[in-house]
Amino acid sequence: MSDPDFVPQTLVKTHEAFLRSACDQLGYEDKVGDLLLMASREIGLQLPLRKDDGSIAVFEAFRVQHHNSRGPYKGGLRFHQTMDMDDARGLACLMSLKTALVDIPLGGAKGGINCDPHALTARELESLTRKFVEKIHRNIGPNLDIPAPDVGTNAQIMAWIADEYSKIYGYSPGVVTGKPIVTGGSLGREEATGRGVGVVMADYARSTGKALENSSVAIQGFGNVGIHAAAYLSELGMKIVAVSDSHGGVFNENGLPVTALIDHKSREGKVAGAPETVTLDNHLLLELECDYLIPAALGSVINEANAPRLRAGCVVEAANGPVTSKADAILAERAIPVIPDILANAGGVIVSYFEWVQNLQRVSWTQEEIRHRMHQKLSEASEDVMAICGGEKCSMREAAYRISTARLKEAFFSAGF
Ligand code: NAD
Repeated sequence: MSDPDFVPQTLVKTHEAFLRSACDQLGYEDKVGDLLLMASREIGLQLPLRKDDGSIAVFEAFRVQHHNSRGPYKGGLRFHQTMDMDDARGLACLMSLKTALVDIPLGGAKGGINCDPHALTARELESLTRKFVEKIHRNIGPNLDIPAPDVGTNAQIMAWIADEYSKIYGYSPGVVTGKPIVTGGSLGREEATGRGVGVVMADYARSTGKALENSSVAIQGFGNVGIHAAAYLSELGMKIVAVSDSHGGVFNENGLPVTALIDHKSREGKVAGAPETVTLDNHLLLELECDYLIPAALGSVINEANAPRLRAGCVVEAANGPVTSKADAILAERAIPVIPDILANAGGVIVSYFEWVQNLQRVSWTQEEIRHRMHQKLSEASEDVMAICGGEKCSMREAAYRISTARLKEAFFSAGF
């Protein structure tokens, strides 16, 4: 049983531990680690909102701009009750490492609003989003900082941001990515993160000589990333045996009917009660015996409390920071490989980059072209990571962090400060 008083290591601490370790392995002095962890700018905002019932609520919003020597700041906006400056700090630095690993000309940022978007009406949510832009517009922009969807945000919210920003600066679709297609979004963006998870898993399976087909998968989180990962992995012939969302999980040892499950989720707002399933507690999903465990919800869900009980053959970090550094050490000792977030979920930022390029050039690419280019970019990064792992017998996380930390350091010092 899990201890209700247990508090897992925060994402920012986990990420700091990984980055410091990469700096050590690269032989950098401690000061380099300090500089790479440092954010360029941290913005805290208070957003007052008149609610539909006439009452007034005030929400806290955050944006951390970590690094822009490789290109404009880039990263998601999270609308969630746990959002705070510390989370934004860790996630922004993670974004800089991700864009460096997949070698796209963008930096790293992250932000959001501390709120429960499901507890707001559509009008309240739109008003809060527009208020956020009203206060932050001088610090974002197509050549400055380009937000995107993350937990609790979606294409509609990106459309409101682009619209509010365009009222001030003229038509500027490139200010955000992940927009609806009709307002300058890109084909293939919505599916990109989940589909990219499958691409990286296929690359990993190839490197180990094992087939993905018929292997079993458990997915925690059935939002944008979890749904598209489930759909693509079942297309690849994998058996999705369990999925969960914040309301609970469902299980079928013979494989869940993924299309029916997605329909059920879009109708009911939860996976619980879907046909051909039995219910499963969220914490038990993480401890299920399966070939691949895919945490696709929030950070720090695999920690030193449950890592000793994990029975997955491999953990794939579709979420950002789902495995704490303490848990990572336990999994390494138990010889459970982890495909790190900065590789596993990088499909999203790659296609965000494609959306931005299309917006700046006023062109649109076909879905086929986008999928092909994303596969290529991700597989190049996978190959780089696997080559270091094979040659130096290190973990995939160590290899990925070494590549991206070195690229970040090089850009930071070349640009000068
Ligand atoms: P989302 O809001 O669309 O979905 C999140 C899902 O997690 C929801 O189904 C929610 O019910 C579920 N969830 C929340 N708490 C849970 C819990 N305790 N147990 C089980 N499920 C829970 O968010 P998303 O965009 O799918 O993002 C998921 C993760 O992927 C985040 O860590 C995010 O940072 C990361 N990510 C997202 C993108 C993207 O393009 N959206 C890109 C890279 C990384």
